[in-house]
Amino acid sequence: MAAEFQHTLGKAAGFSGTSLHTGEKVTLKLQPAPIDHGIKFKRKDLQEEPTIDAKIDNLKTVERATTIGEGSVRVHTVEHVLAALSAMGVDNAIVEMDANEPPIGDGSASAYVELIKRAGVVAQEASRRFFDAREPMHVESKAGSLLVLLPDDKFRISCTQAGPENRFTQFLSTEVTPAVFEREIAPARTFVYYEDVQPLIDKNLIKGGSLENAIVVRGESVLSKEPLRFRDEFVRHKMLDIIGDLALLGCRVRGHIVAVKPGHSTNAELVRAIAREQARSMAVAIKQPTLRGEGGLDTDELMQILPHRYPFLMVDRIISFEGDNKITGVKSVTINEPFFQGHFPGHPVMPGVLQVEAMAQVACILLFRLSKTSGRLGYFMSADQVKFRKPVLPGDTLFIHAELTKARGNRLARANCHCVVNDSVVSEGELMFAFLDK
Ligand SMILES: [Zn+2]
Repeated sequence: MAAEFQHTLGKAAGFSGTSLHTGEKVTLKLQPAPIDHGIKFKRKDLQEEPTIDAKIDNLKTVERATTIGEGSVRVHTVEHVLAALSAMGVDNAIVEMDANEPPIGDGSASAYVELIKRAGVVAQEASRRFFDAREPMHVESKAGSLLVLLPDDKFRISCTQAGPENRFTQFLSTEVTPAVFEREIAPARTFVYYEDVQPLIDKNLIKGGSLENAIVVRGESVLSKEPLRFRDEFVRHKMLDIIGDLALLGCRVRGHIVAVKPGHSTNAELVRAIAREQARSMAVAIKQPTLRGEGGLDTDELMQILPHRYPFLMVDRIISFEGDNKITGVKSVTINEPFFQGHFPGHPVMPGVLQVEAMAQVACILLFRLSKTSGRLGYFMSADQVKFRKPVLPGDTLFIHAELTKARGNRLARANCHCVVNDSVVSEGELMFAFLDK
């Protein structure tokens, strides 16, 4: 799978149950949806059947469960169904409900996993969008929750859960794949501390709640209808909630989440932080002006200078010249680059040597400009001090900078080059060129 495709459901599938907070019967139906649709909730019980995008911008409250809304319409406790859709590989779907909350089931995500398997998961002809963690980022709360997102080529979660007075402290670390989710995470049920729910029961706020859909922890003892499914069921459920809340990002994350005592509010903070980072890097990618004429060269103009052609032309256009000795080129790196097919299957990374080639091509254009005045041509001779600092991934915009430094004895020229993605240097090198008379 050189390119990961978007997926939706093969067909519609639904089931009925009780909603946790109102205690009413609710029917939930998952429907297939087109490319780039994302996950949307549809309130079938309301006039005009409004839909709500499962996006962080629509997050309303994170008290006990995750609630999203648009206008006056709300959907509560979306995290378990979102976790199942996301972890089972569904990118596009409509979640239809005839109430403001999905059926709680047994407090786990197993019922949703079964439903998704019944509907089937099918590939669509568009590539999946990812957020790739490049720098560590973290959020924390005064109450002691901490979430860190670290670079990783897989999606993993390492989670520590601890109850009041550190009762039931549990730790689990795993890569999250559909198989791992179905077997290890989805069956983990919601748990509550008796001291937290007693006031809610008194206020009649959790009408559908019972020992059938949640585990109640009272002191050192565990009250539930069915025995614990895992010795460390609580930390597994915390991971389930993280996956569900993270789905509000609207794209997949490649990275390692290290979570200490996570909760819906810190989960949401992390999603917001990722969304901000995503918006920032997109702004950096598009804010660079396209200069024409003296300021830059478009693809046609640079192909009149460089003999390279697809798939070996490593620069899309030149965006600026600075004096006689500086140049900046740009290349949009897409998932369609032929080298991603084999470098590497399932883990596309732009080969470093092709970044050196991009530097050489950009530097060549500068040398060509000089040769017009000197009547000589520059040839790529050697590369020194080459360093690859960060991976270049599909979706990146590569800014290729070259600066001509010494021209030794008028026969050799040296260019200091570096490539930049999202304001950080991803590769660099010193390239030598020899001048030969035409
Ligand atoms: Zn939960």
